[in-house]
Amino acid sequence: MTRPSHSIAERMSRLDASGIRKVFDLAAKMKNPINLSIGQPDFDVPEQVKEEAIDAIRRGENKYTQTQGSSALLDAVARKCGEELGSSDDRGYLITSGVSGGLVLAMLTLVNPGDEVVFTDPYFVMYAHLTNLVGGKCVPVDTYPDFRPDAGKIADAITDRTRLLIINSPANPTGAVYSRTELEQIAEVAEKHDLLVVSDEIYNDFCYDEPFVSMASVYDNTLLLRGFSKSYAMTGWRLGWATGPRPVVEQMTMLQQYSFVCAPSMAQAGGVRAIGTDVSEHVADYQRKRDIVQDMLGEAFGLIKPAGAFYAFVPAPGGEATPFVEKAIASNVLIIPGGVFSERDTHFRISYATDDNQLRKGLEILAGLAS
Ligand code: PMP
Repeated sequence: MTRPSHSIAERMSRLDASGIRKVFDLAAKMKNPINLSIGQPDFDVPEQVKEEAIDAIRRGENKYTQTQGSSALLDAVARKCGEELGSSDDRGYLITSGVSGGLVLAMLTLVNPGDEVVFTDPYFVMYAHLTNLVGGKCVPVDTYPDFRPDAGKIADAITDRTRLLIINSPANPTGAVYSRTELEQIAEVAEKHDLLVVSDEIYNDFCYDEPFVSMASVYDNTLLLRGFSKSYAMTGWRLGWATGPRPVVEQMTMLQQYSFVCAPSMAQAGGVRAIGTDVSEHVADYQRKRDIVQDMLGEAFGLIKPAGAFYAFVPAPGGEATPFVEKAIASNVLIIPGGVFSERDTHFRISYATDDNQLRKGLEILAGLAS
């Protein structure tokens, strides 16, 4: 007898979460692990943002907002974009349910079955899963060993089926931050092929060594995605925004109407407050943690200093990540093997978004395993 299919659509078989599942299965057996795997800040939402969202609930702002987002938040976002990128009537704005929501809408709006989506490897896993889900083909461009984006390699990966180029700076999982020159070189390639660039800038505030440069400031044909999850520790509030060429944003808005409907109303109210909130203290704190990681692992592992986000992507001893991660887990430190984010499994990702005590303990154990 054949097994029942439970009517699961064929596209679901194109999602493969086995890599990360294996890690979580191992983690489930750990008692009080030193957890260096978490992709979210360890600080809390700013107090005034919480107050604003609670007030919004009390004021009765519990209903649908406009699909594109509340006027107050759209105005705040447009003002911020105007200051940073210069104002433009060609740009549309959409408040999304996190950057994840923006990515889902972008992929469904832009990618046909069989289209190729180019992104740098290592990559944020959602790029690969969503490309597969919509029937696209992933074209990862290798950036090892220093994780710099090579415009020449990107150009070589482009074919007449290429539909999108996704970039992510500061990057998850590598912490790489792209320079203005690198972005301009990528822009030149994209322009030549008339390609839309999706720029995931969710870590834009976490930039330690040089000022952040947005892809949207060097290339107009950019769909820019930003969020509140990391800068203001609002991961559970599901809030982000998209801006880019008006026709693209309009189509994404139409799809939002028939899917997410709108981002959570009280989160949008809090978001208006969040945009004006100074997070430099947290950024300075994470820069200090980045330095601790570099001091403790740099030499032992040959780690190139990450310049942003809150991750380090560390070469595994012997060049094989999974056995090293298994050893780390056996020593009670939870890290993620690079194969989850890459075609290669030669590195491991640590998140340093945790308290100093845990971080130092975990790094000490990892350093001990390397020697
Ligand atoms: N992009 C990147 C690079 C991320 O690391 C994450 C979160 N881990 C997201 C997008 C999704 O963030 P959000 O909470 O805004 O959906």
